[in-house]
Amino acid sequence: MGDHTMTSWPQYGTEEADALLEVLNSGKWGSTSGDVVATFEREFAAYQQAGHAVCLANGTLAIAVALKAAGVGIGDEVIVPPYTFIATASAALFVGAVPVFADVDPDTHLLDPVATEAAITERTKAVVVVHLAGRPADMDAFTALGAKHGMTIVEDAAQAHGAAYKGRAVGAIGDLGTFSFQSSKNITAGEGGVVVTDSPELAGAVYSLVNVGRVPGGGWYQHETVGYNLRLTEFQAAILRVQLRRHPQLQEVREGNARLLTDLLEKAHGIQLAPDDPAITAHGRHLFMLRVPGRRDAVLEALRAAGFDRASSGYVPLHRNAAVLRESQAITTRLGQPYPEHPCPNADLVSTDTIWLPQPYLLGTEDETRAIADTIANAVS
Ligand SMILES: *Cc1c(COP(=O)(O)O)cnc(C)c1O
Repeated sequence: MGDHTMTSWPQYGTEEADALLEVLNSGKWGSTSGDVVATFEREFAAYQQAGHAVCLANGTLAIAVALKAAGVGIGDEVIVPPYTFIATASAALFVGAVPVFADVDPDTHLLDPVATEAAITERTKAVVVVHLAGRPADMDAFTALGAKHGMTIVEDAAQAHGAAYKGRAVGAIGDLGTFSFQSSKNITAGEGGVVVTDSPELAGAVYSLVNVGRVPGGGWYQHETVGYNLRLTEFQAAILRVQLRRHPQLQEVREGNARLLTDLLEKAHGIQLAPDDPAITAHGRHLFMLRVPGRRDAVLEALRAAGFDRASSGYVPLHRNAAVLRESQAITTRLGQPYPEHPCPNADLVSTDTIWLPQPYLLGTEDETRAIADTIANAVS
């Protein structure tokens, strides 16, 4: 059995061990011979209220494949937030497109639809909206922008398994959505990813990109397009099927503890929490984020001293990342296009005062959760 203390992640038991042994003894270790990946795809699609799900190696390539399946390619512009994991932007570069940064809302850390619309040019083909920390972004605004400007909306839901916006699970609210099953994520097999969509055409295109250009039901050497091999193994899918079954119960614990932390911290002077929003009908609870202007080092030091050493200062914004800028400008220079740069003062601001509590810290007892809140409240006062 896994150790069930709050700092222990992943959580697992004999069910995962049995599922792994079953794949081992079947001799069908890959999805070209077994059916565990296909079964998990159906289960995960249903969980996220999506018509289709296609598994693949990780959440980074899930975004790149989603963009490519939607026809995004060389020189196209893809609007992304700067306050996110690097994969959100590097995925655009992997398909030859240029990530263009639009600012975030400082209250929520999420991509701002107004800043997004201001960044649209005639080359903009897609927006990657990130449900950061598990908090769904303003999907009404983004789907309206997509329809108005003919852009593909991709949801980066790597941190948002089980999250819902106005009662609809995230992922297939936009054209395509992507999830990660990397070690830190709320459903994990060590590595892994999935693309979901309601469109059978886009699902078929994703399948072909993941399966060397094959088509569903087609021949082994029938390559209708040029695709990668990005397949997940049957071992990973076996673990994911069990982790998916565990997810609702673990989410209930995370949600209860996040509510308790919110109640305890929102009264404290000097702490800023994201506001409640009735449109968020389920929060993915991957990170608990708070802003402590002027007090971040003191709060992090106090958390570490109290043994909560996985608390973190979070992202350095990507519009400041030299590698992303270099790769982007290499593309625009070759094509003779301008490189669109927009100031992102909110991303700059929140990156100076934000603290993250990672999701295992939402799996503790009430006493452990109160200890986190006390440590933070004492350090800001
Ligand atoms: C984890 C993560 C990814 C990438 O997923 P991997 O499976 O690690 O490649 C992409 N976007 C966000 C927001 C993430 O948190």
